[in-house]
Amino acid sequence: MTDGRGFARPIGVAVLGFGNVGTEVVRILTDHASDLEARVGAPVVLRGVAVRRTDVERQIDPDLLTTDAEALVARDDVDIVVEVIGGIDPPRELILAALNGGKSVVTANKALLADYTGELAEAAERHRADLYFEAAVAGAIPVVRPLMQSLAGDRVERVVGIVNGTTNFILSAMESGDADYEVVLKEAQQLGYAEADPTADVEGYDAAAKAAILASLAFHTRVTAADVYREGISNITSEDFQTAKALGCTVKLLALCERLVDSDGKERISARVYPAFIPLEHPLASVSGAFNAVVVEAEAAGRLMFYGQGAGGAPTASAVLGDLVMAARNKVYGGRGPGESTYAKLPTAPIGETPTRYHVNMQVTDRAGVLSTVAAAFAEHEISISTVRQEGTGNDARLVVVTHRAADQDLADTVRTLADLESVISVNSVIRLEGTSV
Ligand code: NAP
Repeated sequence: MTDGRGFARPIGVAVLGFGNVGTEVVRILTDHASDLEARVGAPVVLRGVAVRRTDVERQIDPDLLTTDAEALVARDDVDIVVEVIGGIDPPRELILAALNGGKSVVTANKALLADYTGELAEAAERHRADLYFEAAVAGAIPVVRPLMQSLAGDRVERVVGIVNGTTNFILSAMESGDADYEVVLKEAQQLGYAEADPTADVEGYDAAAKAAILASLAFHTRVTAADVYREGISNITSEDFQTAKALGCTVKLLALCERLVDSDGKERISARVYPAFIPLEHPLASVSGAFNAVVVEAEAAGRLMFYGQGAGGAPTASAVLGDLVMAARNKVYGGRGPGESTYAKLPTAPIGETPTRYHVNMQVTDRAGVLSTVAAAFAEHEISISTVRQEGTGNDARLVVVTHRAADQDLADTVRTLADLESVISVNSVIRLEGTSV
């Protein structure tokens, strides 16, 4: 894009939202204007910032602020729209309006992308615009671009990530302080690591949205949040950590995206989020506090790990700015970034047919023959046992069984059979075991 004299004309940017992420995006755009100009090949000029409230004092030139996001998006001097409002409406309409007007869009909005990537990507395709969203998964950590571009020639088999900082903070604190979930959640809320309503994080919805995005990219298939099986961490107890430790494991909330190959060679994918035991030697086991990490396993590349700050205004803005520079360069020199790739159209396997391993902790009667009755319940469902550990005596006799890999439904059926046994007083906890090759 040049003016009549051959100079690249400025690239106009609209930022929608001036919260945690938006303020940092504007700060970097302003503080590093000359570097950005050199990298893009044209000045990158902030045309305006859309907010909702007018009664708030803000560190920004008031002339840049508007509550009319629609009008800002429609301005002729806006080439790129950065959406950092969050939620579905109005971001969906605003992004569609931008793309339909041929403007490129950078967004950090995982909730929107998890359900509407198809609609947005099609609008981008129709109007030859860019739609970038590196910040939507794991904040500052580059994982969208590696999956979309660096690994575009490889075959991704599995993506496993800790993609929610709040839950990782809670689980890490439970582990190090031997503390209960409710106590740690309150502490996390006081420290600002968890929202007043923590549901989206602790029940795994946020991680499921990110799993949908990762699975779509990894397997060239459109995956939405509804395709992702989800369990949260609110039932995890300090006793689970003690059991994990005894097994040489820890507990993490994992987002798992896997390519499954049936015995007849047919491929399906599995996308799921749940708390799981992982061995201490697994690369994700040492990811603690609010940090995120994503491990990608690809046929030729082998195992790759991406680690860093998965949230926070500045780290997320870093990813937004990376996308903004890409989109701006494309405006200056022509061309587009890669669009949505969904050619593989792989079906999603239901959770019941997904292979996994279980750890079952049950309280049993302290009588001869209990072990064989319990083993028979596993055998009835053709589940092979990996290890059995007995703890305590009398009324506190406990059995901890770890299985080999089997279909999730068969394992769930086994747990139901166990719960009905006279010799099993209670099934205290059932947690999947991931990150092993058995
Ligand atoms: P936030 O602090 O709540 O900020 C949201 C901003 O959007 C506020 O400035 C708000 O205006 C503005 N807004 C709300 N409704 C609007 C409307 N109808 N029109 C115009 N502006 C409107 O949110 P955030 O934490 O910055 O998150 C923004 C996005 O980044 C979300 O999609 C989030 O999922 C994603 N993200 C955030 C993080 C993080 O660490 N925060 C990490 C990764 C991704 P007022 O200021 O007037 O209220």
